[in-house]
Amino acid sequence: MLSRARALEEIAGQRFEVVVIGGGVTGAGVALDAASRGYSVALLERGDYAVGTSSRSSKMVHGGLRYLQNFDLGLVREALLERQLMVQLAPHLVYPTPFLVPALGEERRDRKVGIGLNMYDVMATTRVGRSRRELRSAKPDDEGSYWSPDRHRTIDRDEVLELVPALASRDPKDAYLFYDCQTDDVRLVLTVLGEAERFGAVTLNGAEVTEVLFDNGRAAGVAFVEEDSGERAEVHADHVVNATGVWADRIRPEEVVEEEDVPRIAPSRGTHLLLDRADLPMGEAACVVPAGEGRAIFSLPWYGRTLVGTTDNDFDGDITHPRPAGDDVEYLLDAVNAFFGTSLGTSDLVGAYAGVRPLISTGDPRKSVDISRKAELYETSSGMLTITGGKLTTWRRMAKQTVDRLVEREGREAPCHTAEIPLGMEARPEDLEAPPGVGEEALAQLAFRYGHAARKVLDLVREDPALGEPIAPGRPDLLAEATIAARHEQARSVADVLLRRTRLGILAAPALRDAAAVRPVAERLGAELGWSRRRVKREADAWPAVAAAEGVDPAASAGPVD
Ligand SMILES: Cc1cc2nc3c(=O)[nH]c(=O)nc-3n(C[C@H](O)[C@H](O)[C@H](O)COP(=O)(O)OP(=O)(O)OC[C@H]3O[C@@H](n4cnc5c(N)ncnc54)[C@H](O)[C@@H]3O)c2cc1C
Repeated sequence: MLSRARALEEIAGQRFEVVVIGGGVTGAGVALDAASRGYSVALLERGDYAVGTSSRSSKMVHGGLRYLQNFDLGLVREALLERQLMVQLAPHLVYPTPFLVPALGEERRDRKVGIGLNMYDVMATTRVGRSRRELRSAKPDDEGSYWSPDRHRTIDRDEVLELVPALASRDPKDAYLFYDCQTDDVRLVLTVLGEAERFGAVTLNGAEVTEVLFDNGRAAGVAFVEEDSGERAEVHADHVVNATGVWADRIRPEEVVEEEDVPRIAPSRGTHLLLDRADLPMGEAACVVPAGEGRAIFSLPWYGRTLVGTTDNDFDGDITHPRPAGDDVEYLLDAVNAFFGTSLGTSDLVGAYAGVRPLISTGDPRKSVDISRKAELYETSSGMLTITGGKLTTWRRMAKQTVDRLVEREGREAPCHTAEIPLGMEARPEDLEAPPGVGEEALAQLAFRYGHAARKVLDLVREDPALGEPIAPGRPDLLAEATIAARHEQARSVADVLLRRTRLGILAAPALRDAAAVRPVAERLGAELGWSRRRVKREADAWPAVAAAEGVDPAASAGPVD
């Protein structure tokens, strides 16, 4: 990624064909799609990349088994095809995980789940929806080149316990096993942005769009304020795309629009908890956990921890800093304790976070669980396009839908290429050469997170072995990653590194409670960004307040507050 200074220079006062507002997965996808079709593209993000919902998801790239209940078949099918494509395009970053639906004690397997899984299997196949002619002309190894999940199956007690040791005390009888995929949502966004830049897009964070500019009643660019200097700048563009997720209805062109032209967001909050793997050992598999009233939550292995989530409740609080609600934490812990026979409490949590879904309100007073996850593209009379709703999994489709509209508007011949553009470059841990002191766990994590670019992190450690130190005791994230974050990923604060370049802020919150613990990160950032000693101290000192505002550490004495 370009440095911020360079990106600002290339954007401020300049003209692009497309300007994208919002650096979550949707905006990143639009930037990649448009740039790879030959458009000149600028992307502006108010805070840090993925700071909104795209760092706060359940980290699943999935079809969404539960949407089958609502007969959202089109959505599930689309997401399942995207899931398959993502594993192919980013094999280092999007990986299949076995998911179990266990039957405990005398319980019988729920046949309705079995029926749903049969549908899920059928919908996941790339054969569905192809005409006979297409099937006949498909090359024999065509499908073999895609990752394709095995069909769901039933596994016996022993296999259940091997996959999910946390169920040892619960006498599981058997379980349905099916596959879905997992990722690191922020790294997905950064990877897509990196690809967009390869195609010429220029992206800048810390740049809040404050105004849409008009030319003869048409949206013709935006004005933004650069965070460090507080200065206003303009960028002119033929097309303006609003990809601000849950904030989408706040960016309105100034001319009058029909009310039905503008999306109305009905925010819904989802809380997640992180536990030490020793307290709830998930092994290599995830589990669907009943959570009362027909609802279910997930317990997932993630970065060597156990991730539990999520809730789904209408939310009218601060959408910029949604915090895990106290009753949501309790609800999730109760469900986990009842299912696994544990007695885990708030003090056992190693992290927590909450996110707000950009659900589109249809004016229907139904609860958010029933509102569709469908993405919607709106075009207001100024020509500004707003794309919101949807899922992390379906970012590519959302981007395609948006850029298809631009292409159609201009009558260009510019087909979408994103189904063929690899996201980053794959590397397996065994492809990487570890400098002394860097262990296998760190190597595996670096390969997952950066793919081939992990070599840059390792080169830094070779140059300066002190950078091979872990950021948090016992975790495989290396100090060199803070340097990489500042040098190549536009990170500007300790929070950028702890919450979004690494995920330590939610994976090891108690170990990073005070400023002294994060001082080495501030020092690495300072060395790259030219901070004074005083500034380094100030930035380290700022972290505990950020952590408190985000509610990442419910185990700290105060506990989560609504
Ligand atoms: C609890 C929860 C769990 C989820 N789990 C999953 C899952 O497992 N799998 C899945 O597929 N999906 C999941 N989702 C959905 C998915 O996370 C979202 O659909 C997706 O991340 C939305 O991305 P986005 O880019 O549209 O929005 P965001 O990521 O919110 O991005 C919008 C960006 O716009 C920026 N912005 C706002 N205003 C301005 C401005 N004026 N100027 C410049 N920038 C601005 C914001 O700072 C933000 O970064 C989940 C969502 C939630 C809340």
